[in-house]
Amino acid sequence: MITSLTISHRFAAAHRLPHLARSQCANLHGHNWDVKVTIAGRVGESALLVDFDQVKNPLREWVDTNLDHRTLLGADDELRPVLAAYRQPLFIFGPGGDWERLRWPTVEAVTLLIAEQVARLLAPTLDPVGAYVQQVTVEETPGSSATWQAGLPGAGATRDG
Ligand SMILES: [Zn+2]
Repeated sequence: MITSLTISHRFAAAHRLPHLARSQCANLHGHNWDVKVTIAGRVGESALLVDFDQVKNPLREWVDTNLDHRTLLGADDELRPVLAAYRQPLFIFGPGGDWERLRWPTVEAVTLLIAEQVARLLAPTLDPVGAYVQQVTVEETPGSSATWQAGLPGAGATRDG
């Protein structure tokens, strides 16, 4: 029987999207980001898909270490040197940053970032039992979220809200 289970974790972080000049998202602001990771696979004789702790702990540890209570900025953001001078913890998106694939910390980018990290971190646990990360959803405010799904063309993220 194929089934899925979902783990969730929340973190607080500031971001801004200065390339959206006419949007209030260009202003520095914060969210309590709500992350949901769905794992799919076959339930074994133990009646488990996978032990919750084995998948929750790596997710929490990575998110808390890298994103929680940080400011998420694009590499070219003019606030970057200012906040760095005051030793504010940053996570930089884009060329030369902490994650180079996408240039701005949109909810889509945060979703894709977390999807990549959990797929990598959970592979040693999931691969041996034939399970996999099926979906990652990140909600920045109630009603505004992005979802990454395994097998989606280009493994991109879609926006909802
Ligand atoms: Zn925002």
